[in-house]
Amino acid sequence: MSPRYPLEGVASWNMNTTCNYRCSYCTQRFVDDRGQWAKDLPRFIAAFAQLPGDWEIKLSGGEPFRHPDFIETVRALSGARRRVSVVTNFASPVDELCAFVDATRERPGLISASLHLEYAEPDAFLAKVREVQDHGARIVVTCVATRENLPRLEQIRDHYAAAGVTFRIQPEKQDRDVIDYPEHEREQLVKLGGHNGTGNIAPSFADQPCWAGARYFIVDHRGDAYRCYPARRHRNEYLGNLLDGTFKLRAEAQPCRYSYCNCTVPQQRGMVEMRRT
Ligand code: SF4
Ligand code: SF4
Repeated sequence: MSPRYPLEGVASWNMNTTCNYRCSYCTQRFVDDRGQWAKDLPRFIAAFAQLPGDWEIKLSGGEPFRHPDFIETVRALSGARRRVSVVTNFASPVDELCAFVDATRERPGLISASLHLEYAEPDAFLAKVREVQDHGARIVVTCVATRENLPRLEQIRDHYAAAGVTFRIQPEKQDRDVIDYPEHEREQLVKLGGHNGTGNIAPSFADQPCWAGARYFIVDHRGDAYRCYPARRHRNEYLGNLLDGTFKLRAEAQPCRYSYCNCTVPQQRGMVEMRRT
């Protein structure tokens, strides 16, 4: 049986490849050109505005705050009655982060603030998170659990929790697969909540019905859309291009074709039946 129809759809928009950091574990570090960004914004906004029903647009990159027209895009999407969320390394000045909060106040989304320990110091990062929270933001902090970071993460999680800030981890990937953690580290990852709090490290929902493709999709700065990240990885289940009129959503949940699901949005939104693996 399919999970229930998700009332709010979610589109993950990788709107640029540019970033001010060069994290050693960045999944995009082999991208040919890290200086690209979505350019035809009116057509993007029109395409997002035309999606059927309610949608959240989750902006990511690269680092989306580095897109030259970032705030204007957020305002335009909000004006089109889309909820706007963002995945950011939180390196931008506080006034820019607060401008995002102001632009989304009517329909607040979530700020996923990625703590990159190669660049940011946890206490200073927390102080900044609290400042932006005080401005009205909903923020979750995430951190990639590299093997080097892992021994520090429980203490950081507890320290953040004491300040009322949610802290989640993401397993490290190399060549797009989760690295080969030894058993005791896998236990630590699960104790820390698993990938983005799902309790899992590298789950499989193969053959299960999933609404990705109908109520979730990913799209890049060129407008090319796929059912989900594993679909794009395998160059499968292309949904068309948002800018040239070929984009088409599916009508129904369909079986998952992949042996590893790294898309936590469909899992967290009940678009696929969650199970601990
Ligand atoms: S901040 Fe994100 S996009 Fe930028 S280098 Fe680090 S992991 Fe990659
Ligand atoms: S990989 Fe995940 S998001 Fe993609 S179809 Fe399978 S369960 Fe859905």
